[in-house]
This record gives sequence, structure tokens and C-alpha cells, in this order.
Amino acid sequence: KKIVIAIDGHSSCGKSTTAKLVAKELGYGYIDTGAMYRAVTLYFLNHFIDVNDDHGIKLALENIEISFKHNPKTGRNETFLNGLNVEDEIRKMYVTEKVSEVSVIPAVRHAMVKEQQRMGRKRGVVMDGRDIGTTVFPDAEVKVFMTADTYTRAKRRQQELFAKNEMVDLDDIIENLKKRDHIDSNRAESPLRQAPDAEMLDTSFMAIDEQVDFVLEKVAT
Ligand code: C5P
Repeated sequence: KKIVIAIDGHSSCGKSTTAKLVAKELGYGYIDTGAMYRAVTLYFLNHFIDVNDDHGIKLALENIEISFKHNPKTGRNETFLNGLNVEDEIRKMYVTEKVSEVSVIPAVRHAMVKEQQRMGRKRGVVMDGRDIGTTVFPDAEVKVFMTADTYTRAKRRQQELFAKNEMVDLDDIIENLKKRDHIDSNRAESPLRQAPDAEMLDTSFMAIDEQVDFVLEKVAT
């Protein structure tokens, strides 16, 4: 029987890397919900949409279409916004700096949650985000809540950005992580929370394959 695996937690503690590998192992789909909020943020930036402009936001959401396509060349799932490949753009720092502010907006959350529920309706998916186990799929069969200490997370994020030729100061990354955690945890609409039935996983001293095994073990039991 196909299930839903919800992987929530703080920014940059290895959620997406773990989720991707678990999905591959099980032959499941992988949905990066953070990429969806990032794509919406990119659209808002490109179209100068103010986060307080309710009407503009409503219109924008009607015009936003997000999809994922597997790229056999890179072996990755890539994010498309209205038919355009935005995978690289949405990971850049200027989008990352704005994304939590856009993710607070209830209309944005409603649209994304609805779309995520549609994408996972046949189950057989691994979804990573902040509110999957609490709001998107409260009935997910396996729920993991990942965390790690801030320094470890910042170092990992810095390496990721460096691999894409973006040099960012460690202090700036730490500041951004703390700010996003704060906004994500304190918003009114589906804040970042550990679901009561989620397993806590601290990845500070864990290797990727250990994290993957942890989730796969939960699936097996
Ligand atoms: O996972 P990632 O770091 O790419 O997510 C970027 C941002 O998107 C988060 O900091 C958060 O503000 C928002 N997000 C969210 N709900 C989700 C996934 C991401 O609010 N399910």
C-alpha cells in the first residue's frame, strides 16, 4: 500500500536531500513544497507584487502555474513556473531573502496547500516542507521532523551556494536562517511545528545515508 511520507523541519537541515533519496529508494514521487513557495516569490518579485496588495496577490495566484519535471540529464526534479525552468533562479539568495515574507500570506498558503494535496492525492509521495504533517497531510503515515544546530545548517547552505558560484558570508546565512525560522514558526497560518505524531530527527552529527535509513525504517514498521 502506498503511503505519504511527510518531512518537515527547519531550513537547511537536509530535508530535501533525505526526501529525494527516500523517494528514489521507494519508487515514490518527490515534492519539494519549499520550491513552490520560492516560485511564487520569484513571480511576485518579477511582477512587483506588494505583499500587502490583496487584489494583486489574488490575480497573481490565478496566473501562477507550478510544475515539476524530471530532467534525465541532471537526474533532478526541476521546478517550472508558467512553463519556464526556474530551478536555479529560485535558489538564489535574493529569492531566499524574500520567501518567508511571501509564505506568511494566507491566500498564498491556501493555494499551495490545495495544489500539494492534489499532487499527493494518489499517495506514494515524499513531501518536504514546514507544514506537511500538520496541515497538508495530517494523515500522513510517516512523519519526520528534522532539525540541526544553526552552525551546521549554515555551513551546509554555504557549501550549496558555493557550488553554484554564489559566495555568501557565513554570518549572513546564519542571520537569514534565524530570520526564516522565526517568521516560519510565528506566522498565524500553518506555522512550522512538529506534529504530535512526528519523529524528531536531529541531523547535526548524521550522515545522509543514516538519515535516509532512519526514514526507511519508519516506513518498514
Ligand atoms: O525548504 P525551503 O528552505 O526551500 O523553503 C523556503 C521557504 O518556504 C521557507 O523558509 C518557508 O518560509 C517557506 N515554506 C513554507 N511552507 C512549506 C515549505 C516552505 O512556508 N511547506
